[in-house]
Amino acid sequence: MANADLQAPAFTDDNAAREAMEAVMWPHGARCPRCQSLERIGKVSGKSARAGLYYCGQCERQFTVTVGTIFERSKVPLSKWWLAVHLMASSKKGMSAHQLHRMLGVTYKTAWFMEHRIRAAMASGDLTPMGGEGAIVEIDETFIGKKKDMPVRRGFAHKHAVMTLIERGPDGARSRSFHVEGTADADLLPIIKAHVNSGSHIMTDEAGQYAHIGKHFTEHDYVTHSKR
Ligand SMILES: [Zn+2]
Repeated sequence: MANADLQAPAFTDDNAAREAMEAVMWPHGARCPRCQSLERIGKVSGKSARAGLYYCGQCERQFTVTVGTIFERSKVPLSKWWLAVHLMASSKKGMSAHQLHRMLGVTYKTAWFMEHRIRAAMASGDLTPMGGEGAIVEIDETFIGKKKDMPVRRGFAHKHAVMTLIERGPDGARSRSFHVEGTADADLLPIIKAHVNSGSHIMTDEAGQYAHIGKHFTEHDYVTHSKR
């Protein structure tokens, strides 16, 4: 990729990035993320209005192009997100979190989060994370197979841990599974945060590790396996 590309305004300026995103995501004009309406949408103007703010006359609520997307509620500037998407989409071999960390000038942890979110969006073909306002996402883990060189004992230490996220919506369920190192907070939470909208209602079993995870989401309930 030519270096000149990386100097494009959309990769360095947040307003230009937002406009580029609007052009891609709203080819027919601003669309309300809640009711999907293209009608009765107005631009919010005035001194105190944020750039890129719109108003839906049906929902009577405001929105921007990032509402409901993987870019929402992020501390990372929009231009860096846009550059990351561009880099990942245009690189044949894919981009590692390490490369993103260097190229974007964000911490490795942030780059890892961005890489996960963008990869999931590219795989599913849409830019919305799982869950969202009022949506339920179940988090479950199972243990399968046998790790190399691990003696078989009682418990799960010798097995591979797989975490599955399941979103249940009116149009059916969608799920994503991840092979995880273990089932501690540090193994699960970064993946859950990267894939699930923080406005979601999450459901987990009563295992202790989930107690900490709940505070990152709007609501948290428990299911007991015996009741399933
Ligand atoms: Zn609306």
